[in-house]
Amino acid sequence: MKIRLAAPLQPDSIVDGEGIRTVIWTQGCIHNCRGCHNPSTHSFEDGALIDVEDIKEELSSLKFQDGITLSGGDPFCQPEAVSEIAKYSKSIGLNVWCYTGYTFENLILMSKSNKNIKKLLENIDVLVDGKFELEKRSLNCAFRGSTNQRLIDVKKSFLENKVVEITKYDLNSISKSSEKKYLFV
Ligand code: SF4
Repeated sequence: MKIRLAAPLQPDSIVDGEGIRTVIWTQGCIHNCRGCHNPSTHSFEDGALIDVEDIKEELSSLKFQDGITLSGGDPFCQPEAVSEIAKYSKSIGLNVWCYTGYTFENLILMSKSNKNIKKLLENIDVLVDGKFELEKRSLNCAFRGSTNQRLIDVKKSFLENKVVEITKYDLNSISKSSEKKYLFV
């Protein structure tokens, strides 16, 4: 199986989630957010096709990484290959963060008819969700670009049947109103 990537794996990042992380820059995004910092990753024809097995091998050889961060582009535009990488990463002890332009609620709906989206969600620890909104851009949002985007504890959200946001990284506490919204009723 192949995945289209925008760049080689980028180990040792300290700005794409907690700890020391290897970033996987997927190629291809449908969201077209105004002010996107990575417009070269939108096309589904650019970048390079890489064998998922080669990525697994590279991940297994890396040292001192806490986890991987799936970014792009939108990793959910290639759910089959990305879910395979996420699952493998978990199996070798790496935690998984994922950035997406979809909202968590949208992904849950999509996962009902797409088993690869379901598999990818099941192998993500922290989801950074939602489109980048230029008018909501804020420097107080750690690991996010705009205040509408959320850091979501995916496992806890499934367990508690509601969106559980992680706010410990923020300089200012943000609204946690979405915690009251039930997902699966
Ligand atoms: S989802 Fe991310 S990569 Fe896609 S357009 Fe929005 S900011 Fe850019």
